[in-house]
Amino acid sequence: MKKPTILVVEDDLPVRNLITTTLKTQEYAFLSAKTAADAVMQAASHNPDVVFLDLGLPDMDGVQVIRQIRSWSNMPIIVISARTEDEDKIEALDAGADDYLTKPFSVEELMARLRVAIRRQSLTQQAGAETAIYENGNLKIDYAKGLATLCGEEMKLTPIEYKLLCLLAKNTGKVLTHQYITQSIWGRGWESDVASLRVFMVTLRKKLEADPTSPGYIQTHVGIGYRMIKVE
Ligand code: CA
Repeated sequence: MKKPTILVVEDDLPVRNLITTTLKTQEYAFLSAKTAADAVMQAASHNPDVVFLDLGLPDMDGVQVIRQIRSWSNMPIIVISARTEDEDKIEALDAGADDYLTKPFSVEELMARLRVAIRRQSLTQQAGAETAIYENGNLKIDYAKGLATLCGEEMKLTPIEYKLLCLLAKNTGKVLTHQYITQSIWGRGWESDVASLRVFMVTLRKKLEADPTSPGYIQTHVGIGYRMIKVE
């Protein structure tokens, strides 16, 4: 099997070295870029499997890099940012990033996120853009029939809960922002809808999760959004 190639975009040399050294010891192939312009060029010419992207770059904001890459590719992009502001993460996710880590981060955590991104990408490629049946742990969704089952039992979902479940399922592994979810479900992103979204999430989790206080399928990213995770 070909080694996955990771494009590491980071202008801070010690951080870049830490990441590339870790990738090397774990037998990944890698490329590196110090500027946004170089990042876009390398992404276009080498088509890496995953991009690690620092948001604070000397020539351009990292969010611009995400927008440019997304104009031609769905390659997973994991944002690594020193910024602790939620707005920056939200902007990056809305621009099309898949995941984010805040500095200082542990390399173990970074490698765990990388494995998730690679697995998600290979599942998407195997399945094609749209599959008729979604399976994750005990959850199964038959999109054609508009039916969700849990352990073989039909889930009694309201139309909004079903839409919400499908949206999260189709983006398994990816953090979806409140804004993105409310726009996809209600066609707009009003603040008031974020409150509605929380209510629907509570009712959906009661039906989906064995223990809604310790969710196994849908993760909460406080102040940011939600993510469906692949259950073993
Ligand atoms: Ca930086």
